[in-house]
Amino acid sequence: MSTANSDLARIPYGRQTIDEDDIAAVVAVLRGDWLTQGPAIEAFERAIAERVEAEHAVAFANGTASLHGACAAAGIGPGDLAATSPLTFAASANCARYLGAAVTFVDIDDTLCMDTQLVPPGVDVLVPVHFAGYPMDLSSVTNRPKVIVEDAAHALGAWTTDGPVGNCAHSDMTSFSFHPVKPITTGEGGVVTTNNADLADAMRRFRTHGITPTHEEGKWSYDIPTVGYNYRLTDLHAALGLSQLRKLDAFIERRQAIAARYDDSLAGLPLTLPPKAPPGSGHGYHIYPIRVANRRSVFEQLHERGIAVQVHYKPVPMLGAYAGNTDPIPKAAAAYEGLISLPIFPTLDEDSQDRVVGALKEILGA
Ligand SMILES: *Cc1c(COP(=O)(O)O)cnc(C)c1O
Repeated sequence: MSTANSDLARIPYGRQTIDEDDIAAVVAVLRGDWLTQGPAIEAFERAIAERVEAEHAVAFANGTASLHGACAAAGIGPGDLAATSPLTFAASANCARYLGAAVTFVDIDDTLCMDTQLVPPGVDVLVPVHFAGYPMDLSSVTNRPKVIVEDAAHALGAWTTDGPVGNCAHSDMTSFSFHPVKPITTGEGGVVTTNNADLADAMRRFRTHGITPTHEEGKWSYDIPTVGYNYRLTDLHAALGLSQLRKLDAFIERRQAIAARYDDSLAGLPLTLPPKAPPGSGHGYHIYPIRVANRRSVFEQLHERGIAVQVHYKPVPMLGAYAGNTDPIPKAAAAYEGLISLPIFPTLDEDSQDRVVGALKEILGA
């Protein structure tokens, strides 16, 4: 029998964990009366708000729509300036561009997150990113902007010394994503948490066309004072999210255990391990980003061995849509040269993890 590497199961960098109870939760909605914006949405929003210790949660069709909704609710528009990390998914910057705002990039520090001491004056909305699930401390931000929207797409289940990421201890709103590789999934989906009722109301209008009941001419009458979108999440998605949320703690424990095992078994290899969460806080480990020399070759050799690593991220200002941006981002650019995200997800077993470690040892000649 052939023992070619192609016979080994492919190990992805991330994947969802779906059990029978998740499936049953979705099927139950299909048998009921509501498919969109019914009782499951309300229950999911309440459960998310409780879990992250925020007063309000507003669900959206995806985590990009939720960032867009947060920035719109904050009144961001043409002439405004948004600031985010260069080392993120494009949505962290695009959300401000959708509204006609300009975007500036604040370089990272050793945490691979935005250096909060480098925020320039004149920023209207700051979008810090909890990169990889690292719990950013937002208690001290230079030139504190009017509005802070945390992009916590990677960080549901992470916590700082101020409590769960999402409680908005030092921000106005926090956005999460439920894409399949994220900490929990709804297929596509997102949510914004906030302690501000006006912002929550504005986001609810924004996700449903801007529709605002007036009751002027009768119960049916409404106005659309400002244009909104159809960014609703369905009850099918929300039911899946509610079921997934019950497992969040177990998922995070698994991710942290896998990360600790990588930390131990990769120590001593010629690579840089991901930054550890500071004392009193908890890392979400959405991804496990190492840095190596000769990234391209290491990446290709891992793929040849069936280990489907990924790179997070090419810095946003290096993308064509941001051509012309001249913000200095030397640290993000340097980090990008070496970054590789190793497989990490709750069902990654020890044999598979050992295959990843063994392959790295071989490739790096250690
Ligand atoms: C995934 C992600 C988003 C957007 O999420 P979608 O649900 O895919 O739209 C935003 N920001 C970051 C950093 C992400 O990783």
